[in-house]
Amino acid sequence: MKLIAPDYYREFRCIAGDCKHSCCIGWEIDVDTESLARYDAVTGPLGERLQKGIDRTAEPPHFILGEHERCPFLNKEGLCDLIIGLGEDCLCQICSDHPRYRSFFEGRTEIGLGLCCEAAAALILKRPSKTTLVTLEDDGEVETLPAADASLLDWRAVLTDIAQDRSRSVEERAEAILEEAQLPLPDRSFAEWADIYMELERLEESWTDRLTELQQADLTAVPFPEGEAWEIAFEQLLVYFLYRHLPGALEDGDYEGRAAFAVLSYRMIHALCHTHAVLHGAVSIDDLLDVTRQYSAEIEYSDENVEALLDALFEEE
Ligand code: SF4
Repeated sequence: MKLIAPDYYREFRCIAGDCKHSCCIGWEIDVDTESLARYDAVTGPLGERLQKGIDRTAEPPHFILGEHERCPFLNKEGLCDLIIGLGEDCLCQICSDHPRYRSFFEGRTEIGLGLCCEAAAALILKRPSKTTLVTLEDDGEVETLPAADASLLDWRAVLTDIAQDRSRSVEERAEAILEEAQLPLPDRSFAEWADIYMELERLEESWTDRLTELQQADLTAVPFPEGEAWEIAFEQLLVYFLYRHLPGALEDGDYEGRAAFAVLSYRMIHALCHTHAVLHGAVSIDDLLDVTRQYSAEIEYSDENVEALLDALFEEE
């Protein structure tokens, strides 16, 4: 089995107490069976907190979130009391895994870092070099992928090459990806796309505010912010969405839609940044990181929302 990852993967570090949008707030955190057994063996004050802090009647058991949906073990300094009391190895599977995601092929697993984590978003979008894939683990077996898997990976490599063609503007590359997929985006304004995003499940109020601003700004064309940092960040966005979402086509057969979803996601994030600049006077790369983090949490971490947008790519305007 081979374990494949983008080349920045090993550089990721959680920023813990410095994180402004901690994954320990607002998400239900399930506790796996092995961790639950370990927690049940803890004694003393921390053991008592663990007894009270986990809903064991739920399936699967999970931490009982406190005020403002905080994990009961996230302390005021933004640090985890379980790590402080028991060490890093005590974390349940979800906590130790976040923000990683995986795509599975026969004999090959791909791993990556999700943009819903602000530290991962900064690492990925500020990376000046072109992203490549590296092998993290290899058992020495020759990779014998089924034909469908191999052709998906080949096609993704073609799309990724287009996304990384720095002789063209990022918008030209996005258009070329749609041409390669033979699926132009429906002729909708960004306000109309915002209407569609408004119909999806939403988590944060500030996400609703951003979409409302986009509806009201009624942009038709979005000028590209100038500067290499923006070009690089948008390139990395395209590459990320292709790497993460194209493998899903092996399940639903929607190859073209998933390529177009990558372009739609880049354009929506771009438009949200532009709206921010118009309404608030300026936009910075840090704003882009925040919009991206939120887009990721709101959209790509919900299978239902991704499915609804894939459907919307084929609907009549
Ligand atoms: S969102 Fe990322 S940086 Fe923030 S606490 Fe979670 S893993 Fe760490």
